[in-house]
Amino acid sequence: MTSSSLCSFSISPALRLTKYSFGMGDRFGRQAKAQLQACILAEQQGIEVTPVWNKSCREHGIVGSQPGSVRVAAEAAVHDLGWTKPYHIDADHISLNTVESFFDSSDYYTLDVADAIGKPPSLNDVGAFLKRHPELTQSVDLIGGQSSLAMSSSATREIAWKYLSAVQEAGLIYRRIAAAKRLVPFITEVSMDETESPQTAAELLVLLAALADEKVPLQAIAPKFSGRFNKGVDYVGDPLQFETEFRSDLAVIAHAIRVYGLPADLKLSIHSGSDKFSIYPAIRRVLHETGVGVHVKTAGTTWLEELIGLAEGGGNGLALAKEIYEQSYAHREELCTPYAAVIDIDAAKLPSPVQVESWSSKQFASALRHDPACPGFNPSFRQLLHVGYKIAAKMGRRYLDMLDSYETPIARNVTMNLLERHLRPIFLPVPKSPRAHS
Ligand SMILES: [Zn+2]
Repeated sequence: MTSSSLCSFSISPALRLTKYSFGMGDRFGRQAKAQLQACILAEQQGIEVTPVWNKSCREHGIVGSQPGSVRVAAEAAVHDLGWTKPYHIDADHISLNTVESFFDSSDYYTLDVADAIGKPPSLNDVGAFLKRHPELTQSVDLIGGQSSLAMSSSATREIAWKYLSAVQEAGLIYRRIAAAKRLVPFITEVSMDETESPQTAAELLVLLAALADEKVPLQAIAPKFSGRFNKGVDYVGDPLQFETEFRSDLAVIAHAIRVYGLPADLKLSIHSGSDKFSIYPAIRRVLHETGVGVHVKTAGTTWLEELIGLAEGGGNGLALAKEIYEQSYAHREELCTPYAAVIDIDAAKLPSPVQVESWSSKQFASALRHDPACPGFNPSFRQLLHVGYKIAAKMGRRYLDMLDSYETPIARNVTMNLLERHLRPIFLPVPKSPRAHS
């Protein structure tokens, strides 16, 4: 155990992640410029938010893209818009099996070890952990806060049983990347969000102590919070409970940085962060009160802005958006099954394709755009289209060419969605209502 506040154990030099960073997904690789534009506008309003383009192996597989394409698109946007601040390319949710194809293009790695949670570690490893950390076998007074965590040797032993394999897995993946990157610096995040139950503050502390033992110089950690983080719609849960958890996780992180020598700017990463309007005020309040940073990872919703832009563009754009809905509706069961845990579609609220056929640009855009105050907004319609990107992926060139033809209305929606509904309520000093129309 070390008391240094600097990370003293990285094998590879670490690239520093800035205080505020924002993960953006771009399924079809056409919106990097419009996304970056949102960061530029935020910067002009006084807040520097580092753009991080993220794409998982799963997404590459469905869309048929290669990891290198994310960097190509990001670099073109950075060049065209003259962005001189940092930006990163996140190999999102990678495992030991999938990391290799991201070695060349990524400088940010999200090590997903959720699958190893609950896998029994060796008896020796658990014993050695408890021996190394007698401080975790009794109640812990968190440094710098007023709170303490009730812990005991049996409780900590149980936590170690549950999480040590996941931590060891993170160590393996980290060392694999470090060996491949040699002296090229990169950022490490560890994610455990795609699991059944949220982690408690005590679990997070044990996890961080064990990650420090494994010498993983993580700069972001994505725990699972309570409540539902459904795709593309608002948080379902109690925002006050989220705020309490968020604050106690931050207290644990601050403590672990001091006691275990983890990187001084280690921060929380909030996954599935798109459209979680009801918890943004809590995040914003906590950031301003504590002065800490955060990484908010959003993903697939940029593609919905493409559909809104196509619909608003009218003509063939609107016709294509309707066709994508028609096919998504026809294939709704197979599209929804893989996402069952993260979508809540009310089948009775889905309009029939015949109805949608008669819609104007405005009706289509209002049904899809995430504006809870708009009477036309239909969350079921939005969630079905959210998982319908496979339909657009199958259209291939035909869809991509339409993105080029309707670039102006699409880019406007992509930028305004990120700036007004995400960056502003989370980071910017005076939040407007997240309902701002684009
Ligand atoms: Zn995640």
